[in-house]
Amino acid sequence: MTAYPLLTTEAAPRESVTADDLFTPPPVVTQIGNTPLLELKQVRSGLHPAVRVFAKAEWSNPGGSVKDRAGWYMIRQAIIDGRLSGDRRILDATSGNTGIALAMIGAALGIGVTLCIPANASAERKRILAAYHAEVILTDALGSTDSAQATARQLSLKYPDRYCYLNQYANPANVRAHMLTTGPEIWRQTDGKVTHFVAGLGTTGTFTGVGRYLKARAPQVRVFSFQPDGPLHGLEGLKHLPTVHVPEIYDAALLDGNLEVSTEDAYLMMKRLVREEGLFVGVSAAAATVAALRLAATLESGLVVTIHCDTGARYLSLPVWDS
Ligand code: PMP
Repeated sequence: MTAYPLLTTEAAPRESVTADDLFTPPPVVTQIGNTPLLELKQVRSGLHPAVRVFAKAEWSNPGGSVKDRAGWYMIRQAIIDGRLSGDRRILDATSGNTGIALAMIGAALGIGVTLCIPANASAERKRILAAYHAEVILTDALGSTDSAQATARQLSLKYPDRYCYLNQYANPANVRAHMLTTGPEIWRQTDGKVTHFVAGLGTTGTFTGVGRYLKARAPQVRVFSFQPDGPLHGLEGLKHLPTVHVPEIYDAALLDGNLEVSTEDAYLMMKRLVREEGLFVGVSAAAATVAALRLAATLESGLVVTIHCDTGARYLSLPVWDS
């Protein structure tokens, strides 16, 4: 009889990753990007017939969010630069989705991941991070990602040989991911017909990267941001810039206008999207839809693109789903 080895939960020891390994990225990484661009056909009532609204389905990335793109570009650059070598762990501050992206890619590459996340991040996110075996350090919920960033910075200063701090808020590779992938995909998928782009502001990587690409390609494209309507909000992943530290990668010169979205409006749209479009997306995706539709309502013709950042499955514990 053949003796099969017992399955074990212990990871096998691996050689440290080098830049050479990046020529053949792990299979899961090859599934990042090239997401579908979906037209919103039901929630668009009242719009001029010559106006169309599309959402980039970033929930279809393997880690379930837009942050897979930035996660991979930042890790890859750190390996190329020689900052992520030997036994060093990946370290970053995140509201959740970047953490999941880093944990996923770290697992596939055999690199340890440590994440500083605000204590009030959703239960689903914390459990997903635990599943990927990432080390999680919970930081002050009221201090939002600013406190998480401060903790990550302190750790990286105290233990420079133990951690490679990616600092997604200041890392040009975060912007580059969107300049080189999300932006060109939107251009191609709309046959160059995109007229308006709307993005929420978290690290601002999506806004800055896509905005920069589209404006370089076609200066007439209008680029809008949207933000929560106040400092205390439920739009996880997004920042109310007037009251928090503005990320270093933010490029205000790209901005043609900013919209404000309330958490209540986002929750209502989240329910409409799942019930009318069959799109079970997250809260910031719903907020993006509210912003894109509000902008679209001011137009007589045009093609508006926004981002559906993550999947609704990540928010199942929200009270909004109790009824
Ligand atoms: N929505 C969600 C759910 C997010 O996790 C993030 C990332 N923090 C964003 C929007 C904003 O993306 P970016 O960091 O590129 O600004």
